[in-house]
Amino acid sequence: MSAQILDGKAISADIRTQVKNRVDELRQAGHRAPGLVVVLVGENPASQVYVRNKRNACEQVGFHSELIEMSADTSQARLLDLIDELNMRDDVDGILVQLPLPPQIDEETVTERILPTKDVDGFHPYNVGRLALRMPLLRPCTPKGVMTMLSRTGVDLVGKDAVIIGQSNIVGRPMALELLMARCTITVCHSKTRDLEDKVRNADIVVAAVGVPRFVKGDWIKPGAIVIDVGINRLEDGTLCGDVDYEGCAAKADWITPVPGGVGPMTVATLLENTLQAAQLHAAD
Ligand code: NAP
Repeated sequence: MSAQILDGKAISADIRTQVKNRVDELRQAGHRAPGLVVVLVGENPASQVYVRNKRNACEQVGFHSELIEMSADTSQARLLDLIDELNMRDDVDGILVQLPLPPQIDEETVTERILPTKDVDGFHPYNVGRLALRMPLLRPCTPKGVMTMLSRTGVDLVGKDAVIIGQSNIVGRPMALELLMARCTITVCHSKTRDLEDKVRNADIVVAAVGVPRFVKGDWIKPGAIVIDVGINRLEDGTLCGDVDYEGCAAKADWITPVPGGVGPMTVATLLENTLQAAQLHAAD
């Protein structure tokens, strides 16, 4: 193995410390703690774990956090009413509705109902649009966390060829916008892409967000590339693995993110950054 590891646990710990220090300063200056409300509809076990992790992270940095649990048969109208109430509350800086939602609720309608300055997930069309126009406000957490990791390599990203595998609204697309804003030349691949391997072979930066275990093979990787593995796949034996063949890719790349302990912890740390940013926006109002 030749690649250096981009340690998401260590980088996210730094970010949490920075956020905590800033919260301490705000409190000492007489301001209230930033507040995040997490809304969980139904009893999806994976969502319950994600929500618990997010709330623990909030408590560690001194945020006020609330969990609102709603039953799986909650109507869309009831959820929208709740969001309206939270939008109005002065003590709530961030609103996070955990996805996926039950089938009777339309995710886009819910996402658009959250006030853009409280949209700490960065999924609202207003926030994605601002990112597309190079004037970001609250940025989608996972791609923003990846950019923080890339900055830790010290590699100048300007002019680099970046290939993103996956075009989802929450990862692939905003990732492409982030890398474009960093002045990379971007190629976005998806299930209909032809000659995907050839595109990856020419990439200085590969971001895999496919949802297929070990999809990216070591012999696709250009020597010296940076490999970012966004994937989180649970295998039959209960272990987690990413969307890249870690051993094979690490033998060719200069930098690589592990799974677990790579992009995952960065997403939660970035949610804290976004909530702090939202609180600062509201304080300046
Ligand atoms: P998604 O919505 O299912 O999107 C997957 C993307 O991969 C789609 O664009 C799809 O193409 C493409 N794809 C699927 N099979 C492909 C193939 N054989 N060849 C080329 N492209 C293919 O998934 P997502 O929400 O973006 O998540 C992707 C992965 O990241 C998952 O493992 C997820 O668990 C993980 N994730 C991790 C974090 C984190 O914090 N680390 C956050 C979010 C997601 P089409 O569009 O053509 O269907």
